[in-house]
Amino acid sequence: MNAQATFGRVAIIGLGLIGSSIARAVQAQGLASELVATDASPQVRARAKEIALADRIAETNAEAADGADIVIACVPVGACGTVAKEIAPHLKPGAIVSDVGSVKGAVVRDMKPHLPDTINFVPAHPVAGTEHSGPDAGFAELFVGRWCILTPTEGAAPEAVEKLKAFWRAMGANVETMDAEHHDLVLAVTSHLPHLIAYTIVGTADELEGVTESEVLKFSAGGFRDFTRIAASDPTMWRDVFLNNKDAVLEMLGAFQEDLSKLTRAIRRGDGEALFDHFTRTRAIRRGIVDIGQDAASADFGRPHQGLPKGN
Ligand code: NAP
Repeated sequence: MNAQATFGRVAIIGLGLIGSSIARAVQAQGLASELVATDASPQVRARAKEIALADRIAETNAEAADGADIVIACVPVGACGTVAKEIAPHLKPGAIVSDVGSVKGAVVRDMKPHLPDTINFVPAHPVAGTEHSGPDAGFAELFVGRWCILTPTEGAAPEAVEKLKAFWRAMGANVETMDAEHHDLVLAVTSHLPHLIAYTIVGTADELEGVTESEVLKFSAGGFRDFTRIAASDPTMWRDVFLNNKDAVLEMLGAFQEDLSKLTRAIRRGDGEALFDHFTRTRAIRRGIVDIGQDAASADFGRPHQGLPKGN
């Protein structure tokens, strides 16, 4: 057992991009006395065995959670409630149950009613990812230098929250806590709305008349290419995000539409000063992101592989 294996038995449910990245990071850092993992898909379970993503690949979610000290649901937001129901009778008293969903309010709403009072429910969202999915897409360094937001629920012991913070820090992440509702509002503007815009603009380009598809592809470096990367993100995951963070996204979308109308008016009126002022303000925001080290090579998220600091 590695000296850092202070987190006991860790169970990962769902071995896509995020689940398999956690599995690789746990193995690379030696964080678990035993790492157990599973996935709803038999093909994914078989692949996970083949590439040794965990010490043990369980056949069911219940079997994976049984006796684990930390259980992390790494499934689409819409599947979190079902997972909670399946694992609830098998949870060890004092266990930490968490997730990685991009929406937090709906995850709490769907999971909490199924979970016993004897466990600590501490939802989480690592703000890191790529546009790729599946067990081969993950990598151990995905969370290095990125933020993981915890939204502890009422009744979770402070020691359990600290333990989960230490777990994420050991994988290289910075950790912040906030309430689920605030998380959903912040992420609606920083992540969900940008994805919606990317999905829209790539669809618009695809349907354009008068501009050929080969021209769109050939000249994509003019800005379009970054949108295509974001718009290649997993359809199931993003469907669930918009279905489950409806109110916050609609609020941000309303603000965005008002701002777009202002810019539209400035273009129509030839108001160069308004355009210049707006672009100057947004340029400062970009520089602020770079200054705090949150800029990445790929759009929105994803980070080139880099060494994971040991003992972080
Ligand atoms: P993914 O690559 O599509 O993997 C999800 C895996 O979960 C799939 O293998 C899926 O199997 C499995 N699964 C679905 N329902 C299940 C169930 N009931 N029980 C067990 N396994 C189940 O997705 P991901 O990108 O890792 O996303 C997982 C979660 O992370 C989502 O909640 C998402 O919001 C969050 N997240 C994603 C990103 C990102 O950039 N991708 C970033 C931060 C957070 P099937 O394929 O058979 O359905």
